[in-house]
Amino acid sequence: MDADLLEKARALADPAYVTVAEAARRSRTALFRQLLTQRRLLPQGLDEHTVRLLVDELAGLDANQFIDQANVGEREGRIYSELVRARHFGMAHGMGRAGDLAASQPKACGASILVRLCAALLLDALHVAGFRSCRRVALLPIATGMAMTLCLLALRWQRPAADRVLWIRIDQKACLKCIRAAGYQIDVLENKLDGDQVVTDMEALEKRLAASDPSRYAAVISTTSCFAPRAPDRVVAIAQLCARYGIPHLINHAYGVQSRRCNGLVCAACRLGRVDAVIFSFDKNFMVPVGGAGVAGTSPTFIEAVESLYPGRASVAPVVDLFITLLQLGRDGFSGLLRERERRFQRFQAQLAPVLAKHGERLLHTPDNPISFAISLEHTMLEGGIEPTAIGSMLYARRCSGPRAVLGTERRLVQGVLLAGYGAHIADYPVPYLNLAAAIGIRDIDIERFCRRLDEVLGQVRGTRHASAASAALGPRADPGPP
Ligand SMILES: *Cc1c(COP(=O)(O)O)cnc(C)c1O
Repeated sequence: MDADLLEKARALADPAYVTVAEAARRSRTALFRQLLTQRRLLPQGLDEHTVRLLVDELAGLDANQFIDQANVGEREGRIYSELVRARHFGMAHGMGRAGDLAASQPKACGASILVRLCAALLLDALHVAGFRSCRRVALLPIATGMAMTLCLLALRWQRPAADRVLWIRIDQKACLKCIRAAGYQIDVLENKLDGDQVVTDMEALEKRLAASDPSRYAAVISTTSCFAPRAPDRVVAIAQLCARYGIPHLINHAYGVQSRRCNGLVCAACRLGRVDAVIFSFDKNFMVPVGGAGVAGTSPTFIEAVESLYPGRASVAPVVDLFITLLQLGRDGFSGLLRERERRFQRFQAQLAPVLAKHGERLLHTPDNPISFAISLEHTMLEGGIEPTAIGSMLYARRCSGPRAVLGTERRLVQGVLLAGYGAHIADYPVPYLNLAAAIGIRDIDIERFCRRLDEVLGQVRGTRHASAASAALGPRADPGPP
């Protein structure tokens, strides 16, 4: 409530109480002022009531919420369900105007303010997380793969002769589909093995670029956040090659924002070479529902081209989710989550060690991957004759979500590209393995439960193996029974 309204309210309650309440209210107003003027994360996260006040206040500035409005157009932000209205704080006009995501929307003054403020807070969060050279970030109401596609489409205008994308292999379907969706051919650069790690083959990349006409490439796509044993790409060296050959460079930083090390790589790549855009997911990095992605960069030109290429109107919902989350986190909350994740990444591996030792498996040595790691399933496979996918299913049945079992011998045709050793990011990876991640928000209880259940599963596999060896010795069983 405004100060002058509270003044009038003095007649309705004990003026002494009103004075105290007014001071409390002023503290909230001061926080809003700080947010709107400094446009940075608040040092401490806001409580739910304060966030609600701010979002409701902004939502009230949208035309569909005005009192006495006469709506006679075809897009008036009408909401039938009160449930839906509540879910969106009454904001119904989306973001952007005539397909320019960054433009102010005349029917949605509040949402327009919210979007700009959210972009500023996100930029600050990127700086806090280590991407200090970032100057501009676009908020897109589409997930990472689609955001990559939009970036590639924006490049189409810059590079009319280009018909292909140089893709540094990462075995995730969306990474291929985003190129296909933009209408480009996929030129695969295979990785190489370095100890247990799958790493960028820089010599092969340089040879490939030297032997080709650079204008045929719309972009090189590299990746920072990936499943171990693949390591983040050598993005600094790649950025330097892209600068030398004049080829755009997009970095798939899908869940890399949560890692200060991955952000450090991206930041250095921007400083030392060519990076046109860094694309990351809202949900994987900021613990919000799937729906949004950020396109960040050091030069606003390309980011603005992506924003203005977006055809049509756009949902503001993913941005509202991010806005609320950034307000509630504050700088301390966000840094705390990043630090906790790093600690739990270590703790997870330490807690797995005795389980692995007991079952004759080991942690694969992938020191460059700060988010994901992998454990061998060599004995389970070789002696047990159990498919790693069966281990995956057994874990899934025990309510473990996230582990991916990879055999390394599968050949798969994805978007017309034949990938040998699909899942392992390389052909002939020497051991089957199980892949795990310590991602932002992981709890100690997740780690404890998983370690216990993995122990059970590996034990059960071993038990089955012994049982089947014994029954093989006794000849075929009359009743096979359940496994
Ligand atoms: C999640 C992910 C994608 C796909 O992202 P969407 O947000 O589902 O579009 C692409 N690449 C990597 C490395 C990912 O982790």
